[in-house]
Amino acid sequence: MERFDHFMARANAAYYAARDPFADFVTAPEISQVFGEILGGWARIAWEMMGSPGDIMLVEAGPGRGVLMADALRVFTPASVHFIETSPRLRESQGKHVPGAVWHDTLADVPKRPMILIANEFLDALPVRQFIRRAEGWMERHVDAGEYVELPVEIDLPDDPESSVREVNEPALAFVTEIASRRAIALLVDYGPENSAAGESVQAIRDGKYANPLNQPGTADITAHVDFTALATAARAAGADARGPVKQNVFLTALGLFQRSDFLAQKNPANAENLRLAARRLTAPDAMGGLFKVLAVCPPGFPPLPGFET
Ligand code: SAH
Repeated sequence: MERFDHFMARANAAYYAARDPFADFVTAPEISQVFGEILGGWARIAWEMMGSPGDIMLVEAGPGRGVLMADALRVFTPASVHFIETSPRLRESQGKHVPGAVWHDTLADVPKRPMILIANEFLDALPVRQFIRRAEGWMERHVDAGEYVELPVEIDLPDDPESSVREVNEPALAFVTEIASRRAIALLVDYGPENSAAGESVQAIRDGKYANPLNQPGTADITAHVDFTALATAARAAGADARGPVKQNVFLTALGLFQRSDFLAQKNPANAENLRLAARRLTAPDAMGGLFKVLAVCPPGFPPLPGFET
């Protein structure tokens, strides 16, 4: 028997080490090159706002195939490029798209220099603890032989009605705390609600279809919604500022998604329809525009960052 978050960590490590996640799901950088270009442009502006430090590192956590970084580097040239990635298989693909990158297993291993960090759909893959409210109090979910088992736990959670589920992503909170204590700048893109709420969001996808997360661990991608309010609170508690979250469609539109897509379409009319559909998919409220959010973390008192001016 093991705690659910321990189960999820093991299952996802096996999944990302052995499988091609992009056979199971499609992410924003795989939909349009403009996504990575916009994040690169944002990083470049943030770097200028920092006073253009010459030793700036551009760090990406969970870079997938490396496509986002390759697109971003057309817009911004940092002193060095760093990837936080545990899967040897994905590291190989990242190296093909981005020659000269340096890899690390965790954020703690990244050198302590001026840093801009970007991450898309990284935090949702980190393991969550799951709590369920019963008459006697909060219980924590464990996994035993493919079934959930609930054990009593001492935990400080809101006084939700019976049967409510709460999820806590401890590695994501630690990640944001580390960004804050380094006085770094980060742009975190992921899916989840604007405000913390009770509810179960853990899901598993195997071969492109929803699956039971407890079955055949390592063959499905297990994710949970990201609690942006909890991340912003953790960043502030560690002495940083948090900006947002804003909806992905608001962020990408403010940073010129449609203008850049039109420009590329004029240069290459054969691709115009693809670019138009991609921009729509990234911004439509019923596609990725509404569920996906963007949160920035920056040193306290940093001037307004692009996309977060209001
Ligand atoms: N950002 C990419 C890929 C998202 S998939 C995109 O948008 O397409 C999640 C990524 O996070 C993969 O690269 C996976 O290997 C990585 N990952 C998952 N758990 C991790 C962990 N604990 N430490 C480091 N990387 C992790």
